[in-house]
Amino acid sequence: MAFTDAVRSGFQKELEGLRAAGIFKTERFIHSAQAADIEVEFPAGAAPKKVVNMCANNYLGLSSHPEVVAAAHAGLDSRGYGMSSVRFICGTQDIHRELEGRMTEFLGTEDTILFPSCMDANAGVFEAILNESDVMISDRLVHASIIDGIRLCKAERDTFKHADMEHLESKLELHAARRLKVVITDGVFSMDGDTPPLDEMSRLCEKRGALLFVDDSHSTGFIGRTGRGTHEKYGVVGKVDIITTTFGKALGGASGGCVSGRRELVEMCRQRARPYLFSNTIAPVVVAGVLRVLDLISKSTERRDKLEKNAAYWRKGLTSAGFVLKEGDTPIVPVMLFNAKLSQDFSRDLFEEGIYAVGFFFPVVPKGAARIRTQISAGHETSHLDKALSAFIKVGKKYEIHR
Ligand SMILES: *Cc1c(COP(=O)(O)O)cnc(C)c1O
Repeated sequence: MAFTDAVRSGFQKELEGLRAAGIFKTERFIHSAQAADIEVEFPAGAAPKKVVNMCANNYLGLSSHPEVVAAAHAGLDSRGYGMSSVRFICGTQDIHRELEGRMTEFLGTEDTILFPSCMDANAGVFEAILNESDVMISDRLVHASIIDGIRLCKAERDTFKHADMEHLESKLELHAARRLKVVITDGVFSMDGDTPPLDEMSRLCEKRGALLFVDDSHSTGFIGRTGRGTHEKYGVVGKVDIITTTFGKALGGASGGCVSGRRELVEMCRQRARPYLFSNTIAPVVVAGVLRVLDLISKSTERRDKLEKNAAYWRKGLTSAGFVLKEGDTPIVPVMLFNAKLSQDFSRDLFEEGIYAVGFFFPVVPKGAARIRTQISAGHETSHLDKALSAFIKVGKKYEIHR
């Protein structure tokens, strides 16, 4: 046996190290559908407890929406369960084409290609369109999946300081001679909930002859007046050359992602992107669900409007209670506690009070910037937010962290 005792104990020590450093991740088991009210088993073996969910990416409250569930059922009945193929062999149905068209229309782009996930979209897109003559210039805080995509691509790599347009311009100047320059950013940064100035960024890209790439996973469906995303918020619809986004967050939360943008770039992905070519097609049941989500959010802005109101209400409540927040106007509302242990104790005590929100600390966020990240949903009613606020105040008093 090659997995000898020595090999096993090596891995055991490594895992022990994670525990000792306090960065060992444990999962909490949810016994209900994803929603504002969920039943959670924690710690493992405990009877499930009813809590208010304050940490899902279920921004529009559509993860268990009856119409989405019904559409998914209908999709299952009409198109079956699985495709047992990648897209280019025998894994493309009419509804895949339909969803690509609907995303193009929703995002205001030229074309769209589906991927098994946005992680896969980001892993495949750079390698598919860039080569050694090109340069990728990314914000220093971009999502892990973008970092992986950049690693897989042979183009030169560089970074700019988070949302710093002067620094970005200096990098664009430095790399002026490259065939293609691609500026890469998240639309909403998930740890802080902030948005970079896409209008300025777009202008800089035009001035310096660079392409603009935005991962709008924490934005598609609710940021901007009609929920198109950060490009709508900053008035640059049609000017972002590549948008990647996920169906795993606001758009029903099941799975899947896409690359949307310039027609030829999308076609390059269809020809060359490895996660597209070598991983299975998105299941028809998911496609049918996302199509209904797009119906719902194209017909009315009611849900994104409610989300905006909820987020403002939540920010105001916490601020009046003396908590320190990361400034912003997205439904990602980080409550700053600064101390890593406190963030874990605070989260545990919130759970006792019936509120589910997790604490983040180094290395997920910088040292000394530990926080509870709350995420607001259109599925929350004022009563949920009031209950959560009372719990934050009660636990805050215990640790004497607010005025
Ligand atoms: C969640 C997320 C992803 C990954 O999306 P999946 O579809 O779940 O793989 C990619 N990029 C960003 C910015 C994200 O927040």
